[in-house]
Amino acid sequence: MRVLLVEDEPEMASALRAALTRHDMIVDHAPNLFEAEAIAALGGYDALVLDRQLPDGDGLTLIPKLRARGNLVPVLVLTVRGDVADRVAGLDRGADDYLAKPFALEEFLARLRALMRRPANVQSDKVRAGRLSFDFVNREASVGDVVLDLTRREILVLEALLRRMGRMVPRALLMEAVFSLDDEVQPNALDTQVSRLRRKLTEADGGVTINGVRGVGYLLRETQ
Ligand code: CA
Repeated sequence: MRVLLVEDEPEMASALRAALTRHDMIVDHAPNLFEAEAIAALGGYDALVLDRQLPDGDGLTLIPKLRARGNLVPVLVLTVRGDVADRVAGLDRGADDYLAKPFALEEFLARLRALMRRPANVQSDKVRAGRLSFDFVNREASVGDVVLDLTRREILVLEALLRRMGRMVPRALLMEAVFSLDDEVQPNALDTQVSRLRRKLTEADGGVTINGVRGVGYLLRETQ
């Protein structure tokens, strides 16, 4: 799990970084909005921890910018303000959860874990994207009543993309999800899987599209 921590107070930042690292998370740190925006744009984060009072502005202003680019990374907002109006403002801007300072590290970690367990738009073992519905238990994709005829690898690709819907999924992560170390993998094997999956989703009128960035990764978006 990879977390982007946006916090300007050095003591708070190092305490949170230490707690996250202890729990085996990879942490990148930005001390202001300017750096946070640049780093977040790289994608690949499982969560964003965002302080509101930053030297160059209100942390909340970052969220709509990310969402406008299709970046749906879950956001935990930290603030010293914590009254109802502030909470509503944060949630309205697209924050996923809100934690008022001071807080216990245990609560911080618990909230963050809850956010990361919740793939975008997932309420249960099923996820809907466009007209597509995916069952994580039976590992079955369907459009309406029709179950799509996908290979095992296509299912694995789709599952990995859906778990991070709207976010760029790096090639390395997809490769790990789809191929074992023992597989002899051609350089374009992943791209072949993705193309086939994309074609099947389009043919089934699934209402989703898979976009790729050469050498970087793929992301799945809703088109309807
Ligand atoms: Ca601050």
